[in-house]
Amino acid sequence: MPTTGEKPGKGEYICNKCGQVVVLDDNTDTLPPCPKCGGTEYRK
Ligand SMILES: [Zn+2]
Repeated sequence: MPTTGEKPGKGEYICNKCGQVVVLDDNTDTLPPCPKCGGTEYRK
């Protein structure tokens, strides 16, 4: 699964803990910690 610090590519990622959606606009963007809960694991 995509994790904070990875560059999983463009798209929407959903925090596993709280469901917050994080959008990466660019393939070089790094997945941040969840802005809401600080979680580090996401799903597509
Ligand atoms: Zn979260």
